[in-house]
Amino acid sequence: MSDRILIRNGLVVTPAGTFRGDVMTHGEEILAIGEALPMSQVDEVIDADGCLVLPGLVDPHVHIQLDTGIYQTKDDWGVGTRAAACGGVTTVLDFATQFPGQTLEQALENRWNEVDGKAAVDYGLHVMVTDLPAGEEDELRTLVRLGAPEAKVYTTYRPNYYMDDDRLLRVFKAAAKHGILVMVHAENDAMVSAATERLIAAGKTSLRYHAQARPMLAEQEAAHRVAFLAAEAGARAYVVHNSTGGTTEILAEARRKGINVISETCPQYLILDDSLYEGEHPEWVILQPPLRPRREGAKLWSLLASGEISTVGTDHCDYTLEQKVSTMKFPSTPGGIPGLETSLPLMYTYGVAAGRISLERLVEVMSTNPARIFGMFPRKGTIIPGSDADLVVYDPRHKGQISVGRLHTVGGYTPYEGMGVQGTIRVVLSRGKPVCRDGEFVGDAGRGRYLERSLSGS
Ligand SMILES: [Zn+2]
Repeated sequence: MSDRILIRNGLVVTPAGTFRGDVMTHGEEILAIGEALPMSQVDEVIDADGCLVLPGLVDPHVHIQLDTGIYQTKDDWGVGTRAAACGGVTTVLDFATQFPGQTLEQALENRWNEVDGKAAVDYGLHVMVTDLPAGEEDELRTLVRLGAPEAKVYTTYRPNYYMDDDRLLRVFKAAAKHGILVMVHAENDAMVSAATERLIAAGKTSLRYHAQARPMLAEQEAAHRVAFLAAEAGARAYVVHNSTGGTTEILAEARRKGINVISETCPQYLILDDSLYEGEHPEWVILQPPLRPRREGAKLWSLLASGEISTVGTDHCDYTLEQKVSTMKFPSTPGGIPGLETSLPLMYTYGVAAGRISLERLVEVMSTNPARIFGMFPRKGTIIPGSDADLVVYDPRHKGQISVGRLHTVGGYTPYEGMGVQGTIRVVLSRGKPVCRDGEFVGDAGRGRYLERSLSGS
């Protein structure tokens, strides 16, 4: 393996500022950053003239090889992390589901076995807590011991994931006691169920009705309740995939009162909108929460720029087109879209190049903040000597289009098909080793490591 790599003459984004210069790696770490670093004793020189040099992205929310108990994606950890590597995502945080009858530790062991020998980039796991019998709340402590200090819960999806308010409060209390961050998928289950049943009763089950089944108010009400219950328990909550500006505003208001809540959004809620349900390929955009009216995307961009949204995750989910069109009815279509490989070019194009966010803000929300929030900083999420040499060389001069033919996913589609993008990923390093060059995967399955994380002090 290349022991020393010198990335020369790029625009390097560091915590101390963005400057034109070099980054030198040694083994798995960053050795030095500066101007005109010596080229002697270097195994490879990467010319980054005209390119950006960014810390590898940390995607806090992905679902590789997902089994919901009802649907299964067709990818595996080799496929998913190859897509990550080629998208400049050098750390993925995925989920370990606690299936009925399993302890939290068994849920993690299950997932480690699935990943074993396949991951091409580093990964961490959040545990989907689906069962917490009264009196056994202290089992959550296991998550801290195993380096996966988050509990993911859902306020909707009966019967497999749904957690009622009493359980939610008990999870929050136990999480506060053990220093665990609670990640919440927030949608009011009664509102979603009733809206869905009304549509079914009216015979409106085609894919175009998907968004009507999951009203914005359902998300906003649940976010409001989550903040209230988290405050009551003294817990920290991270509300995943805010899809409406109102959701983020409710959480921002809670933060102003001292409640510890964090907002995440996804590229799809910033860039796509609900007019696509009327278009030619509504199956490409069946996901929960659904896409919203265009004005919500505009609000989310400004909340991302102003700091009210802390992270951008993809909620990557690699169902195949065949699965997406199997019934052409929204209640029985698996929800989720692929995103790992397209998030950086899309966020650069529609965020940075469009003047909505700065380059530094992009790095914060897609790398630094997720690394901090999930207990990996400064090992991940930044370019400083001693950090892991997870680096992306991005050429912003290139003009291209998103096309499924270039992706490494198995789904056979992308909801961004044909969209123009500014820039392309030239090279990605994961702990000092190239894993992608000009769209081609050059990494090794099995080299990715499990990241044992700790939130103390974060
Ligand atoms: Zn998700």
